[in-house]
Formats: sequence, C-alpha cells, structure tokens
Amino acid sequence: MTGTILVAIVVVTLAVGLFVFRAIPAVRAYFGYRGKRLITCPETHKAAAVDVAAGEAAVGAFLSEPTLRLTQCSRWPERQNCGQECLQQIEVNPENCLVWNIVSKWYEGKQCVFCHKAFGNLHHLDHAPALLSPDRKTVEWRELRPEQLPEVFSTHQPVCWNCHVAETFRRLHPELVVNRELEPKRMM
Ligand SMILES: [Zn+2]
Repeated sequence: MTGTILVAIVVVTLAVGLFVFRAIPAVRAYFGYRGKRLITCPETHKAAAVDVAAGEAAVGAFLSEPTLRLTQCSRWPERQNCGQECLQQIEVNPENCLVWNIVSKWYEGKQCVFCHKAFGNLHHLDHAPALLSPDRKTVEWRELRPEQLPEVFSTHQPVCWNCHVAETFRRLHPELVVNRELEPKRMM
C-alpha cells in the first residue's frame, strides 16, 4: 500500500514538473507575441499593422515550437489570403516590431515642441503623448492608425499630453483663451 502511494506521488510530481517545464515557454510565447505590430508588407514594401495569434503560439510552444499565424492585418480583408510572409520579420525580432516599442523609441530623448519637456520611456498608465501635424493640429498617437505611424513620424513633431490638451482647447475655443502677455497694462 505504502509503495503504491509512493509511486503515485512520484508520478504526480513528475507530471507537475513536466507541465511547469512546458508551461514556461508557453507563457513566454503568449506574452511575447501579444500586441499590435508593424511590419513591412513584402508585397507593397509599405508598413502594415498586424496581430499574431498569441494563444495559438502559446499552445504550440507548450507542445513543441510556437506556431505563428496572423489574426489581423491592416491590409485585410482585401489581402486575407496572402502567404503571411511578414511573419518572418516578427520571428526574427518580435520586440522590434511591437508598435508600443516603436513609438516609445521615437519619443525617447525628444522634447515637446511647445514646452520643451523631455520625453522618457512611455508607460501604459500615463497619458498618451501627442503629435503636431504640419497644419498645426495636435493629435494623440493612439488616435492614428498604427500603419500610418512611420510616415507620420517623418512629418510631425512631438507634443506632451499637457500641451496637447491646452492646444486642443485653444483650437476648439479660441474665444475663451486669454493671452496674458497681450493684456494691456493696468494704469496705476
Ligand atoms: Zn509640452
């Protein structure tokens, strides 16, 4: 009887150990392949925004190797039957094509064009910074389609969230904005 219990304990311990051993790469694959990514479409040689099936990649990693498949692309549904050759770019460097990382890298070290505050790393809980277009309108980067970002980054300037809010208010309600430096000096 004691022998049977011992064998059962060994079997359960081995099973749990094996599960944990396989679960680590699966969890890593899930978190590694989550999120919107920018790739260069092999057909158009232009930026496209894609999502990878992170859950499937995790199951694949649990069983043997992560298998990559797109669940979304900015060129779909027109090109839904493409060969998904862009997955090679994601496999080579999954971190580099993550939209969040691309945006964070672009802002890092730059200064707000209005108040000259320097940008650090982006944080998910912070207000999203914005961009100033050539026609002097500010827009949050999150409001733009991800596949537009590479082009937008070459024509727009960085704006901090505070200045974006102030500039938006100024643009929408110019009648309510008081420019203090333009106020006439009071007579004593
Ligand atoms: Zn600013």
